[in-house]
Amino acid sequence: MKDSAPPYDTVVFDCDSTLSAIEGIDELAGDLRSELAALTERAMNGELALEDVYGLRLERVRPSRAALERVARRYVETIVPGMRELVARLERSGKRVLVVSGGLLPAVREVARALGVADRDVHAVDVVFDAHGAYRDFERSHPLTRSGGKPALLAALSAREDLGRIAFVGDGATDLETRTHVARFVAFGAVVRRAAVFAGAAATALTTHELEQHLLTPDERARARRPMQRLWIPGPTHVREEILAAQALPMIGHRAPQMDALIDRIDPHLALLFGYRHGQGVRGAVATGSATSLMESALIGVGPRLLCVVNGAFAKRWHEVARTIGRDAVSFDVAWGEAPDLERLTDRLVKDGPFDAVTVVANETSTGVLTPLAPLAAALRERAPETLLLVDAVTLAGGQPIDMERHGIDFVLTGSQKALALPPGLALCAASKRYQERAKKVASRSWYLDPLRIIDGHEKRATPTTPAISLYQALALQLDDIARGALEGGARDAADGWNKRFARHTRMQARMLAWAHAQGLCAFPARADWCSPTVSCIAANGIDVGRMSADLEAAGHHISNGYGDLKGKTFRVGHFGDHLESDLEELLGLAAEAIARQRR
Ligand SMILES: *Cc1c(COP(=O)(O)O)cnc(C)c1O
Repeated sequence: MKDSAPPYDTVVFDCDSTLSAIEGIDELAGDLRSELAALTERAMNGELALEDVYGLRLERVRPSRAALERVARRYVETIVPGMRELVARLERSGKRVLVVSGGLLPAVREVARALGVADRDVHAVDVVFDAHGAYRDFERSHPLTRSGGKPALLAALSAREDLGRIAFVGDGATDLETRTHVARFVAFGAVVRRAAVFAGAAATALTTHELEQHLLTPDERARARRPMQRLWIPGPTHVREEILAAQALPMIGHRAPQMDALIDRIDPHLALLFGYRHGQGVRGAVATGSATSLMESALIGVGPRLLCVVNGAFAKRWHEVARTIGRDAVSFDVAWGEAPDLERLTDRLVKDGPFDAVTVVANETSTGVLTPLAPLAAALRERAPETLLLVDAVTLAGGQPIDMERHGIDFVLTGSQKALALPPGLALCAASKRYQERAKKVASRSWYLDPLRIIDGHEKRATPTTPAISLYQALALQLDDIARGALEGGARDAADGWNKRFARHTRMQARMLAWAHAQGLCAFPARADWCSPTVSCIAANGIDVGRMSADLEAAGHHISNGYGDLKGKTFRVGHFGDHLESDLEELLGLAAEAIARQRR
């Protein structure tokens, strides 16, 4: 029997009972379950020829598109523990990962996507539906519907130069048949351990940990497993391995249908990110650039008279950008550590008005101050209803709920590297109907930063310039993961997924503040309801912030010193994005030890 040790160039996985703990066909079977399971088992044990069983099962089940979407969800929910991390490590080690499955492509493709595997690296049997999504037929000519199909396909893949040396991982009899065509076949028994398959395989594994030892050299393992540095600074923040790996998917053309499909995947999530509903005339967009690019875009689309609430470094940036592009911007100064007093703010709007727009930073990252948006919106509605509200929600969006209507927002923006926990480089926004109408009337709008060109380009799936495609891949995966509650132990629906994420951040804030209290420290913001739920700014109260940060860094955790004049007087922790409560416990434990050392 042929078996040779790693390194491999490509790792091929079976899907059912290998990547995912279910058999898709059994999920589809419903009442026919035991009848079909018996057939499946006989085929897997090699007692029945696959070609006879395949069509038989499908004709009995006749799966609709909706049924396959349900199976896809079940597949993703039951991804084998440790598999996501393993696939991410394989990709980080430069391996190409393929999925080869006799299952149905519309469902198998979703597991692959959840693991960051490109669609073109998925080999499974397609299904034909009618216009209503009812089953019509399956891809009868596909080799994987026939017995001997899997080894034949693997033989063909092994002959391909771009795939190099291949290892195959599977659990069934048809998987075992590939062993003569690949450098290594690993029988994987985390879900089912089939005696015949284990007996015939040179390499066997019961866990993803064992599996990794068969697929990577010790050197590759050491490199792929080097400890991650954990970023608690308020952006960029910690990015999960799977998300990093999604950026390494093969390049696609930005005018190709795959790009349309990628934006189609992203787009519906923007409504939940920024809190808007269909029929409100609100439109969202993704743009390539950092968050500040969309601050400038937002300002380009409004008239010249602006009032900028300045209560921190990023709020000040609104004012600076507005002045730079020639707007008549007035600053409304508020002490750092405070949110604006609404009485004073609206008095100013009326006395010196009318203003075309007010700018605010919803969550001032430099001071950890949250400006409550609902009362601000109510005050504006009452006293300056024609003035647009432009909101920098950079450390808030994706971290806490935003509701464009209730919060009276005309333009909201964020960046990828903050509460969305992605690498930097993308900016996201949404604009109200009246913002868009006014923007049409503004004369010189800029070409590159024109907000309407950006929004139209997103909507028409025709971005005006080449987008950062790899970052879009990471964004699509992250938004899908949020909607299905990947870090929250699952979700009933997309809204539930987002709500659980928000609730996790709120719990982390409560834990952070309780910890500070226990250390004899307090939050920098002047009032409890101004304390940011995503970025805590804590007054140092005599602690040597530099020394504490250095101690934490030695343990792989990075926090932020105070911003500007607050350096040394405060420190900041961004407890948002994909940080888990267990991660925060580790950080706070280490920080408590660092403080204790200083106080001895
Ligand atoms: C980080 C940040 C910005 C700037 O984002 P860039 O992506 O660096 O342009 C703006 N506003 C707030 C509140 C931020 O936290």
